[in-house]
Amino acid sequence: MKLIVIGGGAAGYFAAIHHKAAFPAHDVLLIEKSENGLAKVKISGGGRCNVTHACFDARQLADYYPRGGKALIGPFQRFNPRDTMTWFQTRGVPLKIEPDGRVFPISNSSQSIVDALETAAQELGISIWNRCAVDTIEPRPSGGFLITLSAGAVHPCDAIILTTGSSRQGYAFAESLGHSIVPPVPSLFTFKINDPDLIAIPGVSVASATATLTGSKTWKQTGPILVTHWGFSGPAIIKLSAWAAREFSESNYQLPLTINWLPAYKEQEIEATLMDLQASSKKWISSKSLFPEISGRLWEYLVRKSIENGDVQWIETGKKQIRKLIETLVRDRYEVIGKGVFKEEFVTCGGIPLNEVNFKTMESRVCPGLYFAGEILDIDGITGGFNFQNAWTTGFIAGDALI
Ligand SMILES: Cc1cc2nc3c(=O)[nH]c(=O)nc-3n(C[C@H](O)[C@H](O)[C@H](O)COP(=O)(O)OP(=O)(O)OC[C@H]3O[C@@H](n4cnc5c(N)ncnc54)[C@H](O)[C@@H]3O)c2cc1C
Repeated sequence: MKLIVIGGGAAGYFAAIHHKAAFPAHDVLLIEKSENGLAKVKISGGGRCNVTHACFDARQLADYYPRGGKALIGPFQRFNPRDTMTWFQTRGVPLKIEPDGRVFPISNSSQSIVDALETAAQELGISIWNRCAVDTIEPRPSGGFLITLSAGAVHPCDAIILTTGSSRQGYAFAESLGHSIVPPVPSLFTFKINDPDLIAIPGVSVASATATLTGSKTWKQTGPILVTHWGFSGPAIIKLSAWAAREFSESNYQLPLTINWLPAYKEQEIEATLMDLQASSKKWISSKSLFPEISGRLWEYLVRKSIENGDVQWIETGKKQIRKLIETLVRDRYEVIGKGVFKEEFVTCGGIPLNEVNFKTMESRVCPGLYFAGEILDIDGITGGFNFQNAWTTGFIAGDALI
């Protein structure tokens, strides 16, 4: 039995390792087109590698995947974040769980994860060919496949695990073998906002605001929001980008966004606080934030956005102006005009349609002997270690099941 794994990323390594561990007599070859595999692991999580997320319930875990969560429930019952943690820890990579559930190596270095995977592959005797690109895959009439490398050499094999991530070439291989492809579009990005006054206060953040996007439906996320040099970032924004990734692409990254800067307050409470001051205070309205959740710089920006001349005293303002300020505090409107980069993590939404894959084995329902794992599938998670968990889980299942 000869297995060729095409693509030496997280999913390819994990699939090759688990196959060789389960079937030591099989010949396992991992083919990677770049200088070294695991390039994304190396740069992941800002160089720290957010290897998984401490969520150990399959159904709950599935909720973190805008696409593919339902299909992953069964696979998560077989290989979940606890298994991932055990696997790395027993291979000499101590891990830590951060307060938000993200799991990192204690070393804070993705190299620990790379080393563990490379060592495991080496110890098991997996052949790894780097700088070796697959050019075509052809099914053999007698079963199995012929793989042609770009250098021209042809290699026969009995089965393939295709783990080429979001590479266009990987999608083309799958199409040549009878699959369709859900069009790939980016997920996990920041929002560009056309508001010179907003982007003049970069670095301002709130710990908990509610951002709402409106398209063919409404998406809502509550969490930290950060003002950047081009618009908005922060966990609530990045999560929204994931849930609305396809809608964003279809709208050319232009959707209306509304922010409630004070989700912990009832609108009447805010109104009462503001009306009190309006009745009596001679203080300058923009000089001091009334809410500990909103910093002075953000408060001043919001006041100036609501009241034409922000340099007025509370007592000088009319009810209409106060109403406008309340509106800005709880329903602050923006137009997203494009997407920006989120350096910590990036993933592609789209790929192999999930109904074309058997999730008990990760084998293609279209082409027997062809298996998939990782980002090539139409699966993607929000930021927090979920995308690697998809690679570990589907890689484990493909490697373990295939025979
Ligand atoms: C900057 C960044 C940071 C990230 N940080 C995190 C994080 O902290 N936590 C998290 O969960 N996720 C993170 N992700 C997402 C995560 O890295 C991916 O979801 C994951 O790496 C996908 O693994 P994969 O093996 O499916 O694909 P890839 O890692 O993309 O691997 C595919 C491999 O296939 C090879 N290949 C392609 N075509 C061919 C060919 N024709 N022949 C041979 N080889 C080929 C490629 O060279 C590549 O090495 C991050 C992504 C980015 C870009």
